[in-house]
Amino acid sequence: MKVTKSEIVTSAVKPEQYPPTHFPEFALAGRSNVGKSSFINKMLNRKNLARISQRPGKTQTLNFYIINDIMHFVDVPGYGFAKVSKKEVEAWGKMIETYFMQREQLRAAVLIVDLRHPPSKDDIMMYDWFKHFEIPAIVIATKADKIPKGKHQKHLKIVRETLQMVEDDHLILFSSETGLGKDKAWSAIESYMTK
Ligand code: GDP
Repeated sequence: MKVTKSEIVTSAVKPEQYPPTHFPEFALAGRSNVGKSSFINKMLNRKNLARISQRPGKTQTLNFYIINDIMHFVDVPGYGFAKVSKKEVEAWGKMIETYFMQREQLRAAVLIVDLRHPPSKDDIMMYDWFKHFEIPAIVIATKADKIPKGKHQKHLKIVRETLQMVEDDHLILFSSETGLGKDKAWSAIESYMTK
């Protein structure tokens, strides 16, 4: 998809704060620092729309972006910060569970993982959660530029196997640095636009 327009619509914690529109929606999740903001900015051809490296301790919100006036990306706050309190983890869990359970226009979840490392326990939990709620997942293995090309397939296999990905879910090699995988990621997202 050629993105000509993108802007932030709103930040929300509770359903009453979600945009009342019915555009197809795609949620983006990943552990903190995995490269989620960089992925969003790359996909939207923006330098700094999604804030790079959000700090822990800040209010955790779902951030809604509107793209080409036809669809939403929803930036889900990153997980896996060591220093976050139990209370904060619980609030985060409740916020995202409510969103994933209730949001009817949610078409697919985009899970960002780091190609360099096997998916973490939190990544696996997230993926299992999507499967539990029957949400299609598009897994983006980012930072591919940091791994020699000859090792890409081996690392992809580890991601697919560690997450125990279902056949139908896409796994895409990506780099926000080089733009590798951008067209494939858009094709995967677009394949869920009309479903
Ligand atoms: P977030 O916390 O998941 O939103 O992660 P960020 O997008 O802020 O990225 C975390 C760090 O990884 C930043 O220093 C980025 O510049 C870097 N980064 C993100 N994506 C890539 C990538 O594809 N390749 C490389 N080499 N670095 C990346």
